Amino acid sequence: MSRHDVIIIGGGVTGLSAGAILAKQGKKVIVLERRPEVGGRIAETTVDGYTLQWGGHILEDTGSGLGRIFEYVGLEFEDTGVRNDACPVFYDGAWHDIRDYYANDRDEYKRIVAEIVASDYDEFEKLDDTPLRTWLEARTQSQGVIDFFESLAKIESMGGERWYDISASDFLYTRKLHYGERRVAGYSVWPKGGYVKLCTDLAGTIKANGGSVETGVKVSSITVENGAVKGVVVGRGEIPIGDYDGETATLRADHVICTLPIWDALTVLPEEHMPKWYVDQIKEASKPENRTFWFGFYAALNEPVYARSPRELTGWVKGPYTGMDGWSFLPSALDPSVAPEGKHLLCCGVVTDPSLSQNKALLNQKFDELDQEMDHFFPELKKHVIWKKRHKVLTYNVWQRPGLVGVYRPANKVPAVDGLWVAGDTYRSRMIGIDRAARSGITVAESILGERISAFENTWRY
Ligand SMILES: Cc1cc2nc3c(=O)[nH]c(=O)nc-3n(C[C@H](O)[C@H](O)[C@H](O)COP(=O)(O)OP(=O)(O)OC[C@H]3O[C@@H](n4cnc5c(N)ncnc54)[C@H](O)[C@@H]3O)c2cc1C
Repeated sequence: MSRHDVIIIGGGVTGLSAGAILAKQGKKVIVLERRPEVGGRIAETTVDGYTLQWGGHILEDTGSGLGRIFEYVGLEFEDTGVRNDACPVFYDGAWHDIRDYYANDRDEYKRIVAEIVASDYDEFEKLDDTPLRTWLEARTQSQGVIDFFESLAKIESMGGERWYDISASDFLYTRKLHYGERRVAGYSVWPKGGYVKLCTDLAGTIKANGGSVETGVKVSSITVENGAVKGVVVGRGEIPIGDYDGETATLRADHVICTLPIWDALTVLPEEHMPKWYVDQIKEASKPENRTFWFGFYAALNEPVYARSPRELTGWVKGPYTGMDGWSFLPSALDPSVAPEGKHLLCCGVVTDPSLSQNKALLNQKFDELDQEMDHFFPELKKHVIWKKRHKVLTYNVWQRPGLVGVYRPANKVPAVDGLWVAGDTYRSRMIGIDRAARSGITVAESILGERISAFENTWRY
């Protein structure tokens, strides 16, 4: 009989992070990934020598999350050493430094930052149903300070266009992390070798520590007996191990971690064994209106175009053509290997309600307006474009709106089923992204082990 300590469904960064930690701790781990390669939503395609991510990956906060995992399992986390060095924001018809918002109220800004840094994360947990503006207005009358924080949240695509849809708790968690670790509102890095390599490195370390990573294996269900998880069922012939009954194979383990994004979770989770309220939490977060829709384009360029610095990350609120919030940057400035020598790559996008994805005519109009918007922001763009590739994605995440974050998301431990866990940045976690997903891997791995691992002791877990 094929028996493991932990079966992990999904070979994205969450599953591989949890797997790498557990394998390092001596657990017999198997990761099952339905696609032919690991990485999940971290995916790259190559077009004419340009490397395009599914979205515009920028890796935030790696210091105490993914970076710490790499160190713990004996891998080197290397970034290109080039950082975003400016954040121009477009408003009132011109580019401004984002700090201009609070230029006349610096002391007030510093006072709010000091309060964020001095607060415990636990205090922010009480704000899962509170808009950021409500929290800010209780502390400051400075419109500049409020505009700064809200613009940042909009550029980070937290809640959509409406102020009351920005969650105080998730925003403050992230700010405390950034200000506390680096004394800046935000920081990001670009991993040397690209994003997929992060995942193949983690997969390699799982194998090196005696675990397995099986690709091309789709889990069809999770088996539960007497309120405890027993293992998973995979399709016939997909894996050369397990107990075959002629059609399917059953793999057995005391713990199963499901890392499918929440909107796919019920394709494998044993709904009939879980409390209805927990299933309802999953269904609520998965509703189309609670998810984000991302559209934008990549542009191959002969010359870089930018507002202040090639390494900038720009943003805008209510763009003059789309009326939406967006961002842009030059991936090739952070990692020249993503473009052929002497060429450049630009990426821009807008995150908005998914209803737009259902309306083809309106979406095409918005794509055209985004073209106009970018030409307006960067008058040189037209001159230097070699080609443009539009993209749209419904799999970015769940909005971080009050009532849809923190305690309102399903807990990592599935209630009423011993040994069953969910992990990833669409469940109980904070903010969106690769590093935040990896932190979920830390949380669940430590929960299975029943203790904090000293290497992560002072890191943020969920
Ligand atoms: C367009 C876009 C842009 C983004 N931009 C950024 C960014 O700039 N910065 C950033 O930090 N993050 C960004 N993200 C978010 C980041 O990609 C995710 O947070 C992260 O990759 C999530 O990892 P995960 O392992 O939790 O989930 P996933 O990567 O979705 O992994 C789940 C895995 O489960 C597998 N699977 C599904 N069903 C089964 C099954 N039945 N059996 C076996 N395997 C199964 C899937 O194939 C997948 O590999 C972006 C995401 C998107 C979509």
